[in-house]
Amino acid sequence: MATLPAAEDLKVRADQAARACGVDLTAYRGEKEGRSPINGAVVSTLAWSEPDAVGETVRRARAAFATWRSVPAPVRGALVKRFGELLTEHKADLATLVSIEAGKVTSEALGEVQEMIDICDFAVGLSRQLYGRTMASERPGHRLMETWHPLGVVGVVSAFNFPVAVWSWNTAIALVCGDPVVWKPSEKTPLCALAADALLQRAIAEQGLSADLSQVVLGGPEVGEALVADRGVALLSATGSTRMGRAVGPVVADRFGRSLLELGGNNAAVIAPSADLALATRGIVFSAAGTAGQRCTTMRRVIAHSSIVDEVTERVAAAYRNLPVGDPMSEGTLVGPLLDERSYEAFVAAIEAAKAAGGEVVAGGERELADEAEGAYYVRPVVIRMPEQSEVMHTETFAPILYVLPYESFAEAIELNNAVPQGLSSSVFTQDQAEAELFCSAEGSDCGIVNVNIGTSGAEIGGAFGGEKETGGGRESGSDAWRAYMRRATNTINYSGELPLAQGVTFDI
Ligand code: NAD
Repeated sequence: MATLPAAEDLKVRADQAARACGVDLTAYRGEKEGRSPINGAVVSTLAWSEPDAVGETVRRARAAFATWRSVPAPVRGALVKRFGELLTEHKADLATLVSIEAGKVTSEALGEVQEMIDICDFAVGLSRQLYGRTMASERPGHRLMETWHPLGVVGVVSAFNFPVAVWSWNTAIALVCGDPVVWKPSEKTPLCALAADALLQRAIAEQGLSADLSQVVLGGPEVGEALVADRGVALLSATGSTRMGRAVGPVVADRFGRSLLELGGNNAAVIAPSADLALATRGIVFSAAGTAGQRCTTMRRVIAHSSIVDEVTERVAAAYRNLPVGDPMSEGTLVGPLLDERSYEAFVAAIEAAKAAGGEVVAGGERELADEAEGAYYVRPVVIRMPEQSEVMHTETFAPILYVLPYESFAEAIELNNAVPQGLSSSVFTQDQAEAELFCSAEGSDCGIVNVNIGTSGAEIGGAFGGEKETGGGRESGSDAWRAYMRRATNTINYSGELPLAQGVTFDI
C-alpha cells in the first residue's frame, strides 16, 4: 500500500494553499519547475526574475524608503501587527506549503509559521522601543545622545530549510525599523515565498501603503548575486551555506555595504556523567533527527563521557531504529524526506568517509521508501560511533548524521566542542552546576548559542540568533539584533551660548 501522496494530489494542495494566501498563480506562471521532496513531483511552474531586473526592483524599494523612513515607528508597527494577524489566520495554509516544498513534518511546519507570528509580536513591541542612549557630556550646556534612524533597503537571501521564518525575522524587524525589503528566497521554495509575501501585501494594501515595501525576486544564485552586488542595498542579510557566505561577504564588503551572515553549523552536545540520560536522549534525537537533519542548528556531534558513552549511543540508536520515517504530512511521522538527490548523495558519501576514518555505524543509514517514489529521498537517521576526533566531523553534511565521540575530562569535551570551523549552537547535559556554568563561560563553548539541558535546535525568537567563526557572526531575530537594520547618529546639542571644545582644546579666532 502506497504511503506517499500521489503527484497530482500534492500539486492540487499546493495550488489551493497558495491561492488561499492570496497568490495569483497565473501572474507568475512560467517555465521553471519546482518539485516537492515528498514524492519528487512537480508542484509549481513559475517564471523566475532576470538578474538584470533586480536593479529596477531595488530602485523601487529605495523610492518606498524615502517615504517609509518618515512614518513614525509605532505606526510602522501597525503594519506588522496586521501581518501577524493574517499569518495567524493562514497558519495552516502556509504550513502546508512549507511541508510540500521543504518536506517538514506538519508540527514543525506549523512551528515555523508560529515563529513568524512570534517575531511579528516582538517587532510590534519593538516599534515603541527603538531606544538610543543619552550620555553625560563633558561640556556645560551640552547634551550628548544617540538616535537610531532607518538604514535603507534590506536585501534578504534565504535558504530552503526555513523557507518563510528567516525572511520574517528580517522583514518584521526591518519594517518597524523603517526599511523596505527585497527578498531572494531559495529556488527550492518559491511558492512559500509568494504566499508569505502575498499575506504581507494584503496588510500593506489595507493600510494604503506602497506595495514596494516588500518585493520578491524568484531565481537561483545568479539572481541572488545581482541583489548582493547592488549598491542600493544597504543591508544584505544572507542565510545559507558557508560556501554561499564566502562568496557574498567580500562582494558586500567591497562596496562598503553592511552584511548579516547566517551560515552553516556543526553543532555538538556534551553529555556529562551526571546527565539525566532519558532527558538527554530526547534532546539529542529531536535535535539530530528532527527536520531530517536539515536545520542549521541540527545536532551533528555527541561528545559523551567515556563512562556513559556506550549507554548514550545505545539509547539514541534504539530511538533511531523506531523513528517513523515517511510522508511528513501524515500524522505520526517524525522524519520527512531529504531535500533532493544531491542531499542523499552527500549523506551516503559522508557515511562512507566516516567508516573509512574508523567509524562504526550503530543504527540507521538506510534509504527508505525508494520503491514508492524514485525522485524522493527518505533515509533512516544514522548514528556513527567514532573512535576519535576526525576531519570528517568538521564538515556540515545537511542530512541526519550523528557522530558520537568519547571524552575523559570536561576540558577535553569543551575542546572537542570548539574544534570545528563552525560556531552556531552547542549544548551540555549535566546536573553539575559548575560544568554548566563553565560551558556557558568565556572558557566554554565558542558558539553563538550555548544551551544547558536542552538540545542544540529549537531557539525562541526572543534571543539574538546566530553564530561565530564560519557561521558568519550575524545576529537576527530578538534582543538587540534590530540595531543591524538601523544607522546610529551621535548628536551633540549645544544650548550654552558658548563654544567650549572637547578635551579642553582652545581655538580662539
Ligand atoms: P545554499 O547556500 O545552497 O543557498 C542559500 C541561498 O543562497 C539560496 O537562496 C541560493 O540561491 C543563494 N545563493 C547561493 N549562492 C549564492 C551567491 N553566490 N550569491 C547570492 N546568493 C546565493 O543553502 P541551502 O542549501 O538553501 O540551505 C542550507 C544551508 O543553510 C546549510 O548550510 C544551513 O546550515 C544554512 N542555514 C543557516 C542558518 C543560520 O541561521 N545560520 C539558517 C538556515 C540555514
